Amino acid sequence: MNFSQTYDEARGRFLSAAASLGIAPERHIHPSARGHDGETLSMDVAVIGDAKAAKLLILTSGTHGVEGYCGSGAQLALLGDPAFLAHARETGVTVVFVHAVNPYGFSHWSRTNEDNIDLNRNFLDHAKPYPPHAAYAEVHALLVPRSWPPDAATEAAIAEFIDQRGMRAYQQAVSGGQYAFADGLFFGGNAPSWSNRTVRTLLRGFAPNAREVFWIDFHTGLGPYGHGELIHAARDDAAELARAKAVWGDKVTSVYDGSSTSARLDGLLACSAYEELPQARYTGIAIEYGTLPQPQVLLALRAENWLRLHPEADASLRAAITKQCRDAFYCDADDWKATIVEQARKCAEDALGAAG
Ligand SMILES: [Zn+2]
Repeated sequence: MNFSQTYDEARGRFLSAAASLGIAPERHIHPSARGHDGETLSMDVAVIGDAKAAKLLILTSGTHGVEGYCGSGAQLALLGDPAFLAHARETGVTVVFVHAVNPYGFSHWSRTNEDNIDLNRNFLDHAKPYPPHAAYAEVHALLVPRSWPPDAATEAAIAEFIDQRGMRAYQQAVSGGQYAFADGLFFGGNAPSWSNRTVRTLLRGFAPNAREVFWIDFHTGLGPYGHGELIHAARDDAAELARAKAVWGDKVTSVYDGSSTSARLDGLLACSAYEELPQARYTGIAIEYGTLPQPQVLLALRAENWLRLHPEADASLRAAITKQCRDAFYCDADDWKATIVEQARKCAEDALGAAG
């Protein structure tokens, strides 16, 4: 069984799977945040193969915390797949499994980290002006109302925004990333987070030797149930998109040309590869698995955001909201898990094929 119900369980399975391969993962302990049950939180890194290899395949889970229940399951399936590991050896590719990029959100069933930061908006230069995100200010008060559940007037105002501007504009306003409302949704932070700094440190460890780097970052919450959309996770560059399509097929989508179901984003995790592995050629995707219909996913995020701002909420409402968030980003169903693993394996194999 590859999928878990708690962060601790997932981490324990990851360590066991690595141990059965004779690998002791490197542990990066969070200096201050604690888990839901008071447990120590960490990002754990298992390197399968020669750490000095020229070719790397990086597989990351839990960038968006609660989405780690999916990503961890996919990682465990690959760690336990002798054919995949043999293929990696044959092609000279070192596989780097990074478990729980955002362990706080993983443990607390939240998409954001200990500081309410959306890590996949955090990897940009915070000394420079932020990308435009003015539209978020128009919806912030509606998304994060004073009381939960929101009243009819709030929902009517959201419906009116969508009516007048269109669903795509609403999605961009909500989820495109913003840097002005620390208590809001899709907040990219105002400084590099602990996870950001930790990922960069571990990448630099590979920098002297890495020449060819593939990266798959596992996500959930967008698109049809179980369908894995392969979203180019890179800068806006036609040649790089073409290279990603050569690896994973023409179905690779882009947030820059409107072909993705995702809003246009800045500050993606995987873009750290450009800065920390400058001598390597980087090719990466996020695999975005669908869960529930979009309105339900957004409602869960709004509820979870409200809960963070209202620690006085009673225990039953707290439990209901966190469960709602977990269910919006992880379908605890055999058919869903099977298709997640099948698609993850195909993507990872395709990267090995391209590397070999
Ligand atoms: Zn995500």
